Amino acid sequence: MSNYDVAVIGSGPGGYVAAIRCAQLGFKTAIIEKYSSLGGTCLNVGCIPSKALLDSSEHFHNAKHNFSTHGIDLKDLKVNIKQMIDRKRDVVKQNTDGIDYLMKKNKVDVYTGMGSFMSATRIQIKGEKDTKEIEAKYSIIATGSKPSSLPGVTIDKKRIITSTEALELQEVPAHLIIIGGGVIGLELGSVYARLGAKVSVIEYTDSLIPTMDRGLGKELQKVLKKEGFEFYFKHKVTGASVKGKNVTVTAEDPSGAKVEFKGDYCLVAVGRKPYTEGLGLDKAGVQMDERGRVAVNDHLQTNVANIYAIGDVVRGAMLAHKAEEEGVLVAEILAGQKPHINYNLIPGVVYTWPEVAAVGYTEEQLKESGKKYTVGKFPFLASGRARASMDKDGFVKVLADATTDEILGVHMIGPRAADLIAEAVVAMEFRASAEDIGRISHAHPTYSEAMKEASLAASGNRALHL
Ligand code: FAD
Ligand code: NAD
Repeated sequence: MSNYDVAVIGSGPGGYVAAIRCAQLGFKTAIIEKYSSLGGTCLNVGCIPSKALLDSSEHFHNAKHNFSTHGIDLKDLKVNIKQMIDRKRDVVKQNTDGIDYLMKKNKVDVYTGMGSFMSATRIQIKGEKDTKEIEAKYSIIATGSKPSSLPGVTIDKKRIITSTEALELQEVPAHLIIIGGGVIGLELGSVYARLGAKVSVIEYTDSLIPTMDRGLGKELQKVLKKEGFEFYFKHKVTGASVKGKNVTVTAEDPSGAKVEFKGDYCLVAVGRKPYTEGLGLDKAGVQMDERGRVAVNDHLQTNVANIYAIGDVVRGAMLAHKAEEEGVLVAEILAGQKPHINYNLIPGVVYTWPEVAAVGYTEEQLKESGKKYTVGKFPFLASGRARASMDKDGFVKVLADATTDEILGVHMIGPRAADLIAEAVVAMEFRASAEDIGRISHAHPTYSEAMKEASLAASGNRALHL
């Protein structure tokens, strides 16, 4: 039997990053993954394939709707969905192969099979052909999450599907019904709306992306409506059924009346739940919290001292970069260092077009806390760069402390917002004031000038181009 300093269970962005950092710090490290392809949800059925399809579908949308304005005339434009999906698979493979390389480079032993605790230090790995056992002084649980469903909705993976199947469709749906107006619903809804599907989103609350700053959901709704999305807010889904190629979704509208939606596919996107099935937590004595997550303290340590847990399987945002930071944090704690994560400064992004990105406190949170704040807003309509690229929807909003001018939150919707938000994160990590950002030179013409202008607007209402 092999002995390790650290065994990591799960090879998503939490697990593989934890393994790399453990190896860098001199620990003899093993990683256990039940699938033959490393990279977890993120690389195989999440972040990477969804972005590949978002990019492809955006090219099609632009070619169809915007190229002629640029003076580029195309004839007989059509979607080749098979090629689009094949390219997505290729992108996934390039990325998962990259993780194989990183494991080899860092001398991390990879075990393929279902990892299950036999005790707090022994793990069984059940592969397709054989079963092995290893001993590990420390373990890191990084087993991630799986899609949630709703009472009355049975996912058959053919017509009533999750994001995993939606990334592998072999045809463009005629009418895609989406339950949930959150991140997955809007990203994958965008893919198929751009390719020509009718898309109806049924959302339980009264807005899209309801956990983000309210202004973002409102603006996104306006833009997506122009692209043909239909939205049904304050609707409670009560069931879904399939007959042949047809799906019927039933719901209660805001008045309580029963309504029906008929389409050919239904995507269930109502959140994800932590995944611990078959992990043998009971044999190790690891406790869960009231929401089925592995319970951890501020150091991501479980109630069993030598077992830690990170990523989607523990509390907090279900984001790849959050999982990665946690992987690094645990490795460094094991090495006796004193790392820290500022959870308030983990950015959130929605990869629609325009993109939505945010970091720090929302206006709603600041209002609720009674904090006095200033607001600086700059619309992309007023940006020379955005006019040149015909990306005039959206804005950057900077919230700053009314007394000290420290930036408290940045919320943006616009072109390349996913990349622009990094400036806000850096500024806030260094506790910059809005004036600091307003006084820094930003290259012209760039989308990033909107961040400078919104900061100037927050700091004494002195935007230059408004
Ligand atoms: P996971 O990536 O879920 O990996 C867990 C791994 O553990 C899996 O490979 C699983 O097979 C393995 N495993 C589980 N149990 C065992 C066991 N007992 N033995 C061995 N192996 C086991 N986040 C972003 O930040 N940006 C995005 O753009 C983004 N897009 C997304 C798009 C979609 C469609 C989805 C579904 C998610 C997206 N996410 C995105 C979320 C992101 O994928 C997750 O937050 C992230 O993958 C969590 O990482 P993790 O390491 O905790 O777990
Ligand atoms: P989500 O939490 O983003 O959205 C779920 C939505 O479904 C919410 O708006 C919620 O109000 C709604 N909802 C819940 N129950 C409902 C019901 N009964 N009827 C109608 N609507 C209902 O979850 P998701 O979109 O499934 O994504 C899961 C996770 O994956 C998220 O936590 C997200 O962080 C992560 N993810 C991130 C990205 C990204 O970072 N770009 C992309 C995809 C997924």
